[in-house]
Amino acid sequence: MTEARTAERQHEERVPMAAPKALYIHIPFCTNKCHYCDFTSYVLKGQPVDDYLDALEREMELTVKELPPERIDTVFVGGGTPTVLTPPQMKRFLESVKRHFPLVDDVEFTMEANPGTTDPEKLAAMFEGGVNRISFGVQSFNNELLERIGRIHNVDDVYRSLDNARAAGFTNLSIDLMFGLPKQTIESLEDSVEKALALDLPHYSLYSLKVEENTLFHKLYQRDELPLPSEDEEYSMYVHLMDRLKGAGYGHYEISNFAKPGYEGRHNSTYWRNEAYYGLGAGAHGYAGRKRHVNVKGVQPYIDYTHTKLPRLETHHVSEQEAIEDFMMVGLRLLEGVRSSSFAAQFPGTTLEDKFGDVLDKMLKDGLLERIDTADGDTVYKLSDRGVLFGNDVFGAFIGLEE
Ligand code: SF4
Repeated sequence: MTEARTAERQHEERVPMAAPKALYIHIPFCTNKCHYCDFTSYVLKGQPVDDYLDALEREMELTVKELPPERIDTVFVGGGTPTVLTPPQMKRFLESVKRHFPLVDDVEFTMEANPGTTDPEKLAAMFEGGVNRISFGVQSFNNELLERIGRIHNVDDVYRSLDNARAAGFTNLSIDLMFGLPKQTIESLEDSVEKALALDLPHYSLYSLKVEENTLFHKLYQRDELPLPSEDEEYSMYVHLMDRLKGAGYGHYEISNFAKPGYEGRHNSTYWRNEAYYGLGAGAHGYAGRKRHVNVKGVQPYIDYTHTKLPRLETHHVSEQEAIEDFMMVGLRLLEGVRSSSFAAQFPGTTLEDKFGDVLDKMLKDGLLERIDTADGDTVYKLSDRGVLFGNDVFGAFIGLEE
């Protein structure tokens, strides 16, 4: 370890660790495994779900003991498919979250759900348990395509689930749509986006397919048996989705996310602002006091660990340089951009221009970033319209500069 790093760590050890205000909890069970999925998720059948919920309670206890929360502004329960819990399991799980973490009155409490796993009884348990936002993994309004990517639901399930959610009292609803899927055509995507917009939801998320290792799609890809759209087609799909959603009055607030005013996801903004969050559950990540952790994966190993200690697979000290790069990489995902003043507040003694002057100049010259000097004397760097289309190239340019 260099002298500078030692000094940095000693400084951090003297500074009291601020408690995160955001909480992520992972439920790693799914009815089946989608063909493209590399998340920590296991097929539900035969899994010790009640034991897992016991283990989560133990992790909650250990977590609040180690780093007591002052207030929790946002909760996100992801997976996996959290809505595979039965109504009694759901009730018990949500009660234990509230028992361990002090949720503020206007907490944003999101749960991911899959269409087809949300009957009225379960939705009632979620609503009564404090969930106030649901993010549905819809992906497409084309049954053939849904089957091709290994989803368990069909389009009727989508409509039924959303009707059930509204009837249960939920108004803050979001759906995910995917593009760049095998054999997906631009016409089929256009049809999906029209059907999605007809639902008049406050929030939509868009994701392109990434072929990840250890997935069925990766095997097919290696055998040249995955008929993906061309890069140009995928690009046209993204442009169409953006134009259509913006045209329908949705604000494009993050590279993959669109919302009606006031419905921007608050929890994920924690990640994009590089702020701290608790992360609980098998395979979950957390970030607090310049340390990132990854929990053990595997349901039984996770359960076993929590009997004696926090279930950490690894804990990693984030150096200042890494934190600075993360700040840019995730911050630029937000279309409002990054502010020099926020950078200076997180990294006193340095400026954005000191650290990234050359890259910023190049990105501005190439038309990928815009610079705005605000009336209050701040400077903002944000993705240009062109930069939005080449986001990954822009984010990557800020990484590894000091190596
Ligand atoms: S529902 Fe989500 S987490 Fe579960 S297998 Fe499919 S993509 Fe993975």
